[in-house]
Amino acid sequence: MDLTSLERLPLWIAGRARAAATKRYGEITNPATGEVIRHVPLGDASDVDAAVQAAADAFPAWRAHPSLRRARIMMRFRELMDAHRKDLAKIITQEHGKTLADAEGEVTRGIEVIEFATGIPHLLKGEFSENVGTDVDTFSIRQPLGVCAGITPFNFPAMVPLWMFPVAIACGNTFVLKPSERDPTLSIRMGELLAEAGLPDGVFNVVHGDKEAVDGLLTHPLVRAVSFVGSTPIAKYIYETGARHGKRVQALGGAKNHAVVLPDADLAFATEAIIGAGYGSAGERCMAISAIVAVGEAADPLVERLAERARRVSVGPGDAANIEMGPVITCAAKDRIKGYIDGGVEAGAELVVDGRNPGVAGDGFFVGPTLFDRVEPSMAIYRDEIFGPVLSVVRVESLKDAIALINANPYANGTAIFTRSGHAARKFQQDIEVGMVGINVPIPVPMAFYSFGGWRGSLFGDLNVHGMDGVRFYTRGKTITSRWPDDGSAAPGFHMPMLG
Ligand code: NAD
Repeated sequence: MDLTSLERLPLWIAGRARAAATKRYGEITNPATGEVIRHVPLGDASDVDAAVQAAADAFPAWRAHPSLRRARIMMRFRELMDAHRKDLAKIITQEHGKTLADAEGEVTRGIEVIEFATGIPHLLKGEFSENVGTDVDTFSIRQPLGVCAGITPFNFPAMVPLWMFPVAIACGNTFVLKPSERDPTLSIRMGELLAEAGLPDGVFNVVHGDKEAVDGLLTHPLVRAVSFVGSTPIAKYIYETGARHGKRVQALGGAKNHAVVLPDADLAFATEAIIGAGYGSAGERCMAISAIVAVGEAADPLVERLAERARRVSVGPGDAANIEMGPVITCAAKDRIKGYIDGGVEAGAELVVDGRNPGVAGDGFFVGPTLFDRVEPSMAIYRDEIFGPVLSVVRVESLKDAIALINANPYANGTAIFTRSGHAARKFQQDIEVGMVGINVPIPVPMAFYSFGGWRGSLFGDLNVHGMDGVRFYTRGKTITSRWPDDGSAAPGFHMPMLG
């Protein structure tokens, strides 16, 4: 179906596009033009119930599918996602605003999780101990949970849902996705491709909406587990509400990612890496660098290089040629980011590059690359997650000071260090209290066969997404102790059974 020609998006329930019951609709806007392109239903309790019920009905048959057959469906889904990579990227760019190359990159990172999920027969292997007592063996298995829900943010409409459902489904669960209401079209397209790959009806479902739909999922008695990615206040709410309703929850929150630059770093390399990580996707990545910690004499030459490069970043619509940075997601986001820049100036930070008027024609939501120097940790531009193309340089005296600054931050998603010193890098990796660390790597997003997640206010819950943590999150363990006695063997008596 050509979803982009629709005036109203459908839900995806039991393998089919279906009109929503809700009467509430939200607007989907092209952030590069400011134009409303279609509408999204904001699902109510009956929409949520229809999706969850479809998933619950599909669960018994799906979990009975041999894991190798589940893996083969993932292999076909992987091929389809790859074949449609360019069309998928176009949908992302139209609704999110990021450049086509960046959108394709996001699809690629998502496909890597599908590739990980194709290994599910191996990943679900248990342990076996023979003869733990006379004629007694013990073994452990992992079983699916049932209906799992995913609630995802606007900034990665392909990759973040793909962190979740391929692993959940491959493990034998069924799934209800509630994508961001800002860019929800891709989720329906992925439903179509899953159906084409041979996924039975009801194993993957999509319900659109806002808080009402989210609350419906968090409180629905048939939902067993909730994966969430979004801002920290909502992540905390999801974790607490889901847990109160007896669900297993992993809730990934916001971020304030620091890049430390030591005086011995290759400054040309560090500058290019930081510019891409700070301004790529208009700073709307959970792993975007937003604070640069310049150590000692690195500061002056680094700021000079960053400013020169920031002024050359090409800003414009994500589908135009040679564009490095597209718009931010909404007019409200643009106003919020500009408000932070005004506040930084008022607080006394040095505005080196001002992106408040990037000079892009039309009504798109553009903010240009912005660079502040001499930012103090007490300032809002340092403290808050701005989620826009604003970089703040904080100057410190030593690596020790840099580590102390980062460890005191309420967020702890990712961080990076730029240095030529193996010793300094090793000290950093050891002492830094952050979930994902890059050494001369600005955005250390782990590959799909490792797990992704931050510390402190960047993750509520015990298990990260994808990798082995993802498999553990979407399954529960069972340990079986079995005895096959010979005729006439003595039966266990009243005392606590001792096997050994
Ligand atoms: P958001 O928290 O506003 O929304 C995320 C999801 O929660 C959406 O599906 C939305 O519909 C829902 N939601 C919003 N308000 C709600 C409420 N009051 N009650 C219940 N549900 C609600 O986040 P966003 O603006 O879409 O995305 C940006 C945020 O996501 C940033 O903070 C970013 O750092 C974070 N993020 C984090 C990671 C990570 O891996 N830690 C990855 C991507 C994005």
